[in-house]
Amino acid sequence: MNSPHEDERITRRDYLNSTLLASGGVLLGAACPMDLLAAKEDWTGYGGVGDYGDSNGNTHEVMTAGHKIRDRVFEPLPSDVTDTREQFDCVIVGGGISGLASALFLARSRPTGTCLVLENHPIFGGEGKRNEFLVDGQRLIAHQGSAMIFPTLPGTFLDGFYRSIGIDFDQFQYQTWSGSDAQMPLGRTPYLDGGKTSGFFYGAKFGQTPGMWLVDPWGKRLAGAPISEKEQRELLAMQDAKPDQGHKPPEHHGDAISRHLDSITLEQDMMDKYGLSRDTIRTFLSPVAGGGSGLGPDALSAYADYAADVLLPWDYAKGPQMFPGGNAGVARHIVKALIPDSIPGELTMAAVCRSNVSFSALDQRSRNTRIRLRSTAISVQHEGPPAKSKLVNIVYTRDGKLYRVKARSVIMAGGSWTTKHIVKDFPAAQREAYAQFHRAPCLMANIAVRNWRFLYKLDISEFQWFEGIGNYTAIRRTATFGAVSPTISPDSPVVLTLKILFSSPGLPIGEQVTRGRMELLATPFRNYERAIREQFASMFSQAGFDPRRDIAGIILNRWGHAYLSAQPGFFFGKDGQPAPGEVLRQNPFGRIAFANSDLTGIMDRRASILEAQRAAGQVMARL
Ligand SMILES: Cc1cc2nc3c(=O)[nH]c(=O)nc-3n(C[C@H](O)[C@H](O)[C@H](O)COP(=O)(O)OP(=O)(O)OC[C@H]3O[C@@H](n4cnc5c(N)ncnc54)[C@H](O)[C@@H]3O)c2cc1C
Repeated sequence: MNSPHEDERITRRDYLNSTLLASGGVLLGAACPMDLLAAKEDWTGYGGVGDYGDSNGNTHEVMTAGHKIRDRVFEPLPSDVTDTREQFDCVIVGGGISGLASALFLARSRPTGTCLVLENHPIFGGEGKRNEFLVDGQRLIAHQGSAMIFPTLPGTFLDGFYRSIGIDFDQFQYQTWSGSDAQMPLGRTPYLDGGKTSGFFYGAKFGQTPGMWLVDPWGKRLAGAPISEKEQRELLAMQDAKPDQGHKPPEHHGDAISRHLDSITLEQDMMDKYGLSRDTIRTFLSPVAGGGSGLGPDALSAYADYAADVLLPWDYAKGPQMFPGGNAGVARHIVKALIPDSIPGELTMAAVCRSNVSFSALDQRSRNTRIRLRSTAISVQHEGPPAKSKLVNIVYTRDGKLYRVKARSVIMAGGSWTTKHIVKDFPAAQREAYAQFHRAPCLMANIAVRNWRFLYKLDISEFQWFEGIGNYTAIRRTATFGAVSPTISPDSPVVLTLKILFSSPGLPIGEQVTRGRMELLATPFRNYERAIREQFASMFSQAGFDPRRDIAGIILNRWGHAYLSAQPGFFFGKDGQPAPGEVLRQNPFGRIAFANSDLTGIMDRRASILEAQRAAGQVMARL
């Protein structure tokens, strides 16, 4: 276990390095990708403590193994593949929520069946993972990707599923206010609420040096904001708009309204609905609007903004909830249900959150379900013609060596970006369907600060800015069943999460995601760290904030293929062709079925679970 000051020591060293080494523009100094592939340490950076300490975002190993698939390094398959002589009823590629849920559905419907989950990271969970810091003796937990969970409606399938794995929405309790300072309203998630203690920061881009804060911008109706009258008018009109602003929302998935929305961009919809100009959207609202799909509104189907509400209604009255590490909590509960001794202790939310994972329990020969980590599947191929084949060969790489296992069925739950490369002999329909999936990158930066008094002094608990790195973040009250303090005050250490997206408004979607990914992959840890420190210094030094003193640690989680960004036509198809997700859902290829949230076009753990249920059903029918 690292010392309480370990993260301080590491990040301060990196900070000093960066101060000495960096020159010129913050991100312009990015090394070329090949240099970075060699410079592993300066890519991954510090990973924190606990179960997830060596698995922050896509690790260097995962990224390089993935790129070997893309670059066809394993084609044709080398001759030195070790045959493990293992055969399973099902091999699942991908140990995110969808792959884990697939394994659970299979185990429950066929308890004697055997199943192997292959996951490329050092821990399961996919985008549902967490970071842990120790700051001045206090444990802080934050999400690496997937954050919010929405309470289910009683009697629904998802309600039963969550209950069956021990998740009870009535048990979520959050830190309470402590200390003598007047209480400030705090949310439960890193997302914005727009209330009285919100703040907008305007810097050099708006002619403000030093920058200025506008506290409670909506309550003040943007009075004092250094923006044009036109921008002010447009933004207020949007803020004042009724939910549907005279435009009826879709009632059913597939009705005329939803189909129309899928034929235009979200940007067009915002212009039609609120009278916003393109410039105002791109300056102030992009990529935050649309951020749940990883790009700005210019690239997305307008229906991307409605689909989750239409398809996945939830108990709105209870509001969004969040495990201390986001949906790492869901992944841990599924794993506990699959292999009870892999997370020791009772089946309670506190124990599942707090106990350390027993990694050796995950892949035991004596178990029907096994989870094999650090293993990247590189080839999935039927033995003989797919229609008649009895077995599928799965080859994976682990520690630089290649291994083969066999299975009577396969569920590809890893996501479009690897599935399209590793399933061999794909028929045209599935190949063309996967060609329509675009996954956008995202950098999730978790910044542990020793206290947030600088924000309290400014009278803000959540804030947004429009230049530099990142866009917004918020102080949140953490759920207390993690090993975190039950109280919070301005003197408490907290984690601020920056979601950094890479949009290039106006460019074709494929170009936007590729450019963004190049930037994410080619920028060293030290450059990002420096940019974040400079951003915070520029915004908060006026309130006494000193990055050297106040930042205790920074963890970067790089997600090369974070979000499915659904372009117009993704949900209902284009030019008379079926929707790509539907093609894959309805057409398993021989013994291979497809899962992962990206098939739905909604980046959400509910989609992961429902796609898993369908794929597991298809596999069961085949078995
Ligand atoms: C920044 C961010 C924020 C989000 N916020 C939320 C939120 O607040 N609430 C919410 O519900 N959802 C959120 N999501 C969506 C999130 O994607 C889903 O909730 C869910 O976690 C996705 O699970 P999955 O199993 O479908 O995919 P993934 O989590 O992507 O899991 C797939 C796994 O398979 C692995 N894999 C891929 N290829 C291979 C291979 N060849 N061999 C072995 N392993 C492989 C991947 O590395 C990954 O670990 C967010 C996503 C991101 C990126």
